[in-house]
Amino acid sequence: MSTQDDDGPTVELADGVEHQVAMVMDLNKCIGCQSCTVACKTLWTEGGGREYMYWNNVETKPGKGYPRNWEEKGGGFESAEQADKEDTHGERQVGELPSQEDWGRPWEFNHEEIFYDGSDESLKPQGRSPEWGPNWDEDQGAGEYPNSYYFYLPRICNHCTHPSCAEACPRKALYKREEDGIVLVDQERCRGYRYCVEGCPYNKVHFNVMKKKSEKCIFCYPRKEGEGPDDEVRPPACASECPPQLRLVGFLDDEDGPIYKLVEEYEVALRLHPEFHTEPNVYYIPPFAPPQHTENGETVDVERIPRPYLEELFGEQVHDALDTIERHRDRVRRGQDSELMELLTTKDMAKQYRLEVFE
Ligand code: SF4
Ligand code: SF4
Repeated sequence: MSTQDDDGPTVELADGVEHQVAMVMDLNKCIGCQSCTVACKTLWTEGGGREYMYWNNVETKPGKGYPRNWEEKGGGFESAEQADKEDTHGERQVGELPSQEDWGRPWEFNHEEIFYDGSDESLKPQGRSPEWGPNWDEDQGAGEYPNSYYFYLPRICNHCTHPSCAEACPRKALYKREEDGIVLVDQERCRGYRYCVEGCPYNKVHFNVMKKKSEKCIFCYPRKEGEGPDDEVRPPACASECPPQLRLVGFLDDEDGPIYKLVEEYEVALRLHPEFHTEPNVYYIPPFAPPQHTENGETVDVERIPRPYLEELFGEQVHDALDTIERHRDRVRRGQDSELMELLTTKDMAKQYRLEVFE
């Protein structure tokens, strides 16, 4: 289905979905502080079999991420040539189930001993030595001195237009909400088969071994629906708690909103791994970095983050996106106006979070 206006179809929405909620994250602003992770964790995934779960995580790229090597575990849809021509997704691919070691087992700390027993031991994980966890390879990145590089990649469920998690479920326990395209797990229908976990190429469905059900990011839908004590509509907690406010939240099909403009008009907000063919509705402004330097500190006209690596993450469109942003930065440097730069630097919350434009 598509939204229609006088000029014909514009944004592609999933069948039966009236509007699609979406998020744009500007990777140039992320400082890797994990406030978003903590906000999500304390709100939704404390205890009860959810100890290892981070519906929002922030990983360092290049890096193996959370769960370890998630980009190599498969899932999503095959890039069938015909399917590509027809602008649809191909055949569904069965992925690999991440092991508990890939997610990282929750760590136990000696809090009791230090806080209540008067021990002068240092705070450290107890039991067997951890070998992996979320954010394990923080700030390691790649490249050699003086041109090493890294950036942070915050990740939530993408609430995809073609959610392979939902298609993988034989009981149709995962579904896209008609009103906003949020992908949820019906806890009554779920029988814990974990086909959805294998099916999501972003590894954004988690399995709760205590409940024997799958669980995932819910795009903070109760906040979006104004279910707090003051009935106020709020953006997801990961967005509102982010110190540099790098997330824009709204609807992909809100043609007056910044998300539509960044994704559809300027084409600078990109999907992560578009080759998985699930059509994510979380988009990223790709990262810039200072140019390379010689050992003597002289600037060399070579980009620090190799373009082939960015292309691996965001597809070929990354070249045009980076060039477009550079052109607009130049305009501003020359004292000219740029709507694009205004969109990317706005501090106006009404523009940043547009969740009340549709009934
Ligand atoms: S990111 Fe994964 S879990 Fe989320 S909707 Fe897409 S396929 Fe499903
Ligand atoms: S809160 Fe914002 S800046 Fe901090 S890690 Fe999350 S997305 Fe990055």
